[in-house]
Amino acid sequence: MDADRAPERLVFVGTADLAGHVRGKSFPHSDLASRLRRGVGITHSNLMLSAFGPILATPFGTIGDLLLVPDETTGAAIPMADGSDGILMLGDFLTTAFAPWACCPRGFLRRGLSALLEETGLTPVCAFEQEFVYTGVADEPGAPYSLGAFRRQGGFGSELLAAIRAQGITPDSFLAEYGPRQYELTIAPTPGLRAADEAVITRELTRAVAARRGHRAILAPMLTPDGIGNGTHVHLSLWDRDGRPALHDPAGVLGLSRMGEMFVAGLLHHTPMLAALTAPSVASYHRLKPGRWAPSVADLGVQDRGSSLRICPVHADTPEAVARQFNVEFRVADATASPYLALGALVWAGLDGIRQGRDLANTTGGPLPFDLAAALDLLAASGVARSWMGDELHGAYLMFKRAEIAALHGLDAAEVCDRYAAIY
Ligand code: GLU
Ligand code: MG
Repeated sequence: MDADRAPERLVFVGTADLAGHVRGKSFPHSDLASRLRRGVGITHSNLMLSAFGPILATPFGTIGDLLLVPDETTGAAIPMADGSDGILMLGDFLTTAFAPWACCPRGFLRRGLSALLEETGLTPVCAFEQEFVYTGVADEPGAPYSLGAFRRQGGFGSELLAAIRAQGITPDSFLAEYGPRQYELTIAPTPGLRAADEAVITRELTRAVAARRGHRAILAPMLTPDGIGNGTHVHLSLWDRDGRPALHDPAGVLGLSRMGEMFVAGLLHHTPMLAALTAPSVASYHRLKPGRWAPSVADLGVQDRGSSLRICPVHADTPEAVARQFNVEFRVADATASPYLALGALVWAGLDGIRQGRDLANTTGGPLPFDLAAALDLLAASGVARSWMGDELHGAYLMFKRAEIAALHGLDAAEVCDRYAAIY
């Protein structure tokens, strides 16, 4: 009799946490209506689960209860190991009094987006470009960008793009990248919070589709210390309340509107410190070295893929189309970052540039931090970052990431890369 019973549909609600992992709990789909109101119970220290699994340090101890409440708009079918489809929803941490929890990663982005909209009337529209190594192919000479490397991945790309499109996310391109077995997937630009949700869903679908084919998509920033990095590049433009593009002005500095210039100058000024949130692993700093097409200094380049911030080329024949396509790319990010924290950091830094009235002529970025410890020191010393994050998240994040460094103490660079490649 039991064999005839239909399997229970489960909904997994999670968030991309401080480690950038999607963690949460599942519940029966039949309870969805009530779970959309009261979420699932979870405790503060869940957010402190380290990249490697165990809680290494926590300011919260074993005490306290929170709600992780699914956002129905994020619902996505996720390929399960046995060929069935599960349901993933991303959520917000609320207190048991249904107030936003100060340390919620998605809340950090939400607050930044609200502040930007309230103070400037602007919303970012973003597209994430994610690089990864697909283990379902052999490394062959001559592979970068080749038809051969495209052919060898077989139906993986087709299956992945179909899985993404089925969630209402628009794929833009899929290609064999420069590194051994490396591929890249770009999705179309989307406004605000949804852009980070789509980055999370895309990342998880990439892993899940690879896993269902018996392989892995490894998004770790570096698989070997001298290899080719996997970046997560964030393309960003600004749009006003009437849905008009607001980043571009053909007469402005580097084609940026005055608002755009202030926003980008804010990004440039804060980039070394932002790395603590956007390139937040020990392995991230093996990627951010010269000669890798990844940035090693905080700079702004026009169509330069070696810079931290790149004004992207536009291929359009009307001024309106140029304005719509005009965007800047942030390249100091990788997949060890939660897209909520990474995009939140960019929004807050850009808003700070507007608040300060920065201009590019008087803004310098400077060197990127040499390692994660140096990046965290910049974040720790930044009063403005503490004001964006709030004292509680700022303190918890620093404790979390410093414990991650300590856990890797004594390992050489290759061992560090291995540890991250095993989990990202
Ligand atoms: N793989 C490079 C990185 O780590 C980027 C290569 C490119 O797409 O320009 O960011
Ligand atoms: Mg690329």
